[in-house]
Amino acid sequence: MLGAPGAGKGTQAHYLAETLRIPHISSGDIFRSHVENSTALGQKLQPYMSTGQLVPDALACEIIADRLTEDDCADGYILDGFPRSTPQAEELSRQMSERGNTLDIAINLEVDDDEIVSRLANRRSCPDCGHIYNLITLKPTRENQCDTPECNGSALVQREDDQEETIRKRLNIYHETTEPIVQYYDSQGILKSIACSGRNPDQIAEAIDEVLA
Ligand code: AMP
Repeated sequence: MLGAPGAGKGTQAHYLAETLRIPHISSGDIFRSHVENSTALGQKLQPYMSTGQLVPDALACEIIADRLTEDDCADGYILDGFPRSTPQAEELSRQMSERGNTLDIAINLEVDDDEIVSRLANRRSCPDCGHIYNLITLKPTRENQCDTPECNGSALVQREDDQEETIRKRLNIYHETTEPIVQYYDSQGILKSIACSGRNPDQIAEAIDEVLA
């Protein structure tokens, strides 16, 4: 799942993983959980993540490669947030071909920069179940509380890197470092781009279903 931060990769990957019954591998979620649990890796990741920079390629590749060897990935997976640079995309292809696998499809969610800034600044998530809300387009039923019954009204939180200045920085990094992999997958003939500006998550999910059909 490709796209700028806030393009909706997490929401759509979550939905697809449920439909296809394969794991949703979000590099950001995996890295955040290391930081929250203060693991040795988390201490290495934290300075990059809190300032909106990409963590070094070798570190990102190592953590994700480990995750992809787990049993639940045997029948496929949806990658969200990885790869995020050409060296990561090349390393992923190398590792997959070692295991006799290839990527089937790269779905690119295209959203205008101004819409990205507004989406991220209004993004909130549940610290317990990870559900993502938007204060304008995907509001929780009760103000600032998670809707999931098991969460018992957990207070929604805003990510540290969703502050406007950090959002602009992440967008610049996206255009410089991550966007070139769209071309990389296009040249391999597996790219499907979806115009997402002004469309709600259900409409985007429908468009994804169409390209997968
Ligand atoms: P995300 O939740 O995907 O927006 O990721 C949050 C942060 O984790 C990013 O701003 C980066 O600091 C780091 N991160 C996540 N995935 C990667 C990756 N593939 N390569 C480098 N850094 C990453």
